[in-house]
Amino acid sequence: MLNLKDPSLLKINNFVDGEWVAGGAGTITVTNPANGELVATIANGDASDATRAVEAAATAFKSWSRIPAKQRAVLLRNWFNLLMANADDLGAIMTAEQGKPLAESIGEVGYGAGFIEYYAEESKRVLGATIPTVSNDRRLQTYKQPVGVVGCITPWNFPNAMIARKAGPALASGCTIVIKPATETPLSALSMCELADRAGIPRGVINVVVGNDSRAIGAVLTQHPKIGKFTFTGSTPVGKILMKQCADGVKKVSLELGGNAPFIVFDDADIDAAVADCMATKFRNCGQTCVCTNRIFVQNGVADEFTRKLQTAIEDLKVGDGFEDGITIGPLVSVSAVEEMREFVADATAKGASIATGGGTHELGHCFFQPTLVTAISDDMRIANEEIFGPIAAVQTFETEDEVIERANDTEYGLAAYYATRDIGRVMRVAERLEYGIVCSNSGVFSTEVAPFGGWKESGIGSEGGKEGIAEFFETKFHSMGGIES
Ligand code: ADP
Repeated sequence: MLNLKDPSLLKINNFVDGEWVAGGAGTITVTNPANGELVATIANGDASDATRAVEAAATAFKSWSRIPAKQRAVLLRNWFNLLMANADDLGAIMTAEQGKPLAESIGEVGYGAGFIEYYAEESKRVLGATIPTVSNDRRLQTYKQPVGVVGCITPWNFPNAMIARKAGPALASGCTIVIKPATETPLSALSMCELADRAGIPRGVINVVVGNDSRAIGAVLTQHPKIGKFTFTGSTPVGKILMKQCADGVKKVSLELGGNAPFIVFDDADIDAAVADCMATKFRNCGQTCVCTNRIFVQNGVADEFTRKLQTAIEDLKVGDGFEDGITIGPLVSVSAVEEMREFVADATAKGASIATGGGTHELGHCFFQPTLVTAISDDMRIANEEIFGPIAAVQTFETEDEVIERANDTEYGLAAYYATRDIGRVMRVAERLEYGIVCSNSGVFSTEVAPFGGWKESGIGSEGGKEGIAEFFETKFHSMGGIES
């Protein structure tokens, strides 16, 4: 059982209109991916629960949107403080349902809370404009007004941060929100709501409906007439379905979808630093992030050295239950994800790849897979084209800068790209030529609430973080005032 300082943070019901309510479809179970044990049995909401939540959010919007930003900011700041004060418990809840090492979970709670803090501040700086007039009897202004009720669907890989990145700017802008978290990891979402409630955020402003009929709930969150905007983080195929559903009502849409991140190591790179950065982006969250390195390209002159050092670093990873001390990599989210890793490896080896280390299920069993290094990759392998979403590093080599840029851009995705070089000219050139929403040179870490995170091409629409992240939740209104001078 979970050992929490504040056991009342573990919620098992949905949060609708400020009340903890049972679901219309009975219950579902949440299990720990490290051992398959039951963590909680919780409410299974359905479409009618989602509809009630949208209606409550629409009612709440009438007053929440009229509260001055400065007052909303105080409530969001309270929420931020409570999230930080309870970070250990929130981290433990996350590790129990998601599997990542406890230190990573607590880190995610702080990262997520950063968005609440940042947007509490930023809400006071959303400005309309006064536009020079075109005739003396008119004055021209723009207003920024919140879009309304936000429908939100989030994935299991960052059960706190993916919600915070949406709820922070939504609430700060004066919108209200209905969240459907992933059924694998709903407990983090519910505990965040409990703290929002304690922070004084009024009823109906934030609602969570958990349910395993994601299509039915998704239909409400994309198509209910009172939804003003829909925001989603998840896979590209599901994002496309939901975007189509939004088309009928011409809802505003933000999508954070899949990636196929290259990590490029040039001959002039600091190889030890490149290995460390590559490890950070490849193996964080057991390789289960949309910005995880997916394709590693190493220039021929340093390929042997980089690959050898990468192998050593991979073999140094400590696999295990995220609650144990010193664990650096936890389980995958599900047994089917383990099977998916086995299929990637089988496909690659059948087509001539070599396994330098790992390659199979881990002796811990259940959802554990060995951190793996695969070399001798060719273009026809699935591993060279698809999003791996697991702890498999696949190394390819290249000859020239032009060649690697072309190969790195040769994908329908465009989320994050990484490269290592000590040539300042190359740092600039490569940044400009990569067709990605985020480019990261000489580092494996970039995510912060103060900068925009968003994908190009089929990786998404819109940004989360920074000034761009709050702009998504406003409509612009143009006011043309006549009769000023007679
Ligand atoms: P992942 O591979 O990260 O699970 P998905 O896109 O499958 O990505 O899921 C992300 C979120 O979208 C989850 O909350 C899931 O329940 C939800 N989801 C999946 N399919 C649908 C759908 N057809 N309609 C609405 N929500 C969906």
